[in-house]
Amino acid sequence: MKSQFKYILRCTLCGREYAPDPFRLCCDKEHKPSLLRTVYSNKKLEVKQTLPGVFRFIDWLPVERYLDVEGKPITYQSEYLAHHLGLDNLFISFNGYWSERNARLFTCSFKELEAFSILARVPNNNQKTLVVASAGNTGRAFANICSKLQIPFCLVIPEQNLSAIWSKDSFHSCVHFIAVNGNGDYFDAIRLGKIISQLDGFFPEGGAVNVARRDGMGLTVVDAAVTIGQIPDHYFQAVGSGTGGISAWEANLRFLADGGFESKKMKLHLSQNIPFTPMTDAWKTGNREINYLSEIEAKERINQVSAKVLTNRQPAYSLAGGLYEALVDTDGEMYGVTNKESEKARVLFEELEGIDISPAAGVATGALIQAVEAGTIGKKESILLNITSGGYKRMCQDYALNYLKPDLVFTPQEIKPDLVKEIMNSRGDKPLTR
Ligand SMILES: [Zn+2]
Repeated sequence: MKSQFKYILRCTLCGREYAPDPFRLCCDKEHKPSLLRTVYSNKKLEVKQTLPGVFRFIDWLPVERYLDVEGKPITYQSEYLAHHLGLDNLFISFNGYWSERNARLFTCSFKELEAFSILARVPNNNQKTLVVASAGNTGRAFANICSKLQIPFCLVIPEQNLSAIWSKDSFHSCVHFIAVNGNGDYFDAIRLGKIISQLDGFFPEGGAVNVARRDGMGLTVVDAAVTIGQIPDHYFQAVGSGTGGISAWEANLRFLADGGFESKKMKLHLSQNIPFTPMTDAWKTGNREINYLSEIEAKERINQVSAKVLTNRQPAYSLAGGLYEALVDTDGEMYGVTNKESEKARVLFEELEGIDISPAAGVATGALIQAVEAGTIGKKESILLNITSGGYKRMCQDYALNYLKPDLVFTPQEIKPDLVKEIMNSRGDKPLTR
């Protein structure tokens, strides 16, 4: 049945449906935490070649408009890494900057995909400032796109990740930046971002629960399936919040309803960076709940990993529609990859494919190497390796980068609702202006 709407939102737990609402993040019914999922009235994807960047896939984005942006994931068949690993059908989803292959995500991260989708979902006449808490890549993506399109934006990030917020262009004054200093981590930034987003004049992005974020990220699989002409057998990606894995699964489910490809569920092979592997540990012990880790222990482990973007302490794992269900449904697998394995994989990838990749992408490649060595994937099976971020080295060669400086700095101890409100209010009617 064709709905009067472009899409509806359906609760993955109780099935309740909602009309499109750009600010709706969760189900109203009182039950355990759950994700809403988009159900598009266009079951069959029609690629709109004339629209810019990712908006060629606008049929499967919860947006009513498109943005003038050029980046998208690119998919290509690997020759040298594939040969090295003895695989016949290894495909790379490359998200980043690589001019020879026309990869033009200038923040070098697939987080730009979700920024495009989330920002296009916000209505044109919206007056409030979007708040995003980030460990780096997401923040950089939003800061760049908001700056380019002059959309009011407030970024909250741990001070230790400051160097992650750069752009090839200078930042517009509509982009504001708040840091958490000392040993404040991503979790502290999330806490602070949540408080700020509830103040007058601000609104939260929502993280994993925002359908626009997930449908934007899922475009890596959409682009790959359209390019390859089939749904891959295996999907490799490194995960921090788990959102990327959920998104890939949801894109797969959408293709099953599309019916244009052979009906198949790709097996999710998701990886985390040792010694911070909450989801890998939970999955390997058959547990739907993440094992409790004290704050001190979590921070100690986080300090040791090279892929800091994978260190979310509250991943979208247990909730309805979350990563645990995605792994169950796809007979998935989780991996732990050491810094050393990740580094080795990165060097190998750069040598063979000709472009540098991030530590997180090194973790995903490390997991692929583990699977090949364990003999769990077939030589002839089709494999999609999501290089979630790459080309930073190349960016630095081609462009001089500008860095964003914080307007305000909070200590972790100052992250209390009353205190944050007081500090923000004490700055008058322009709390975020330098
Ligand atoms: Zn519900």
